Amino acid sequence: MDINSIINKVAIRIPALEKIIYQIAFEHIQSCNEVAFMQGKTIFYTDRLFLDYSDEEQAFVIAHEVMHYLFHQKNKLMDLSKYDEDLVNFVEDAQINQLLIKLGFIAPEGVVLLEDAMNYEFEDLYDKLLPMKREFLSDNNWSKYTNVTDILNNNQELKK
Ligand SMILES: [Zn+2]
Repeated sequence: MDINSIINKVAIRIPALEKIIYQIAFEHIQSCNEVAFMQGKTIFYTDRLFLDYSDEEQAFVIAHEVMHYLFHQKNKLMDLSKYDEDLVNFVEDAQINQLLIKLGFIAPEGVVLLEDAMNYEFEDLYDKLLPMKREFLSDNNWSKYTNVTDILNNNQELKK
């Protein structure tokens, strides 16, 4: 799909995003590492979005980035200086992905999938994960987990 078709698909599936998605600028850039990312009010995307992902997954990726924008506003995270950026990103990823799956999107391989992530408030989950951040964010350790409860329990084990 071209970028406008993806945007329209997302807007149709999540009417709540319709207003916001058309305020966001979409810009194509050359990069081999990234697929898509948000910076300010612009979502940058690369050829990898079209080469490596199915139509359904493309919609997921773009909806995911738009959701970051929404979550930042909702959680009043426009000032990120007092937060650990990697952990903010991780917690948002976990919650956004569960929300998108609930809305019928198909997640690509390799994304954060913690099925109970939505049972926590953002701040609550952030605070709980902060002390063990290093252990599960390094070496993609997070990918071994399918829910938040296991991450928290595992940390109790490590402390013993
Ligand atoms: Zn993300």
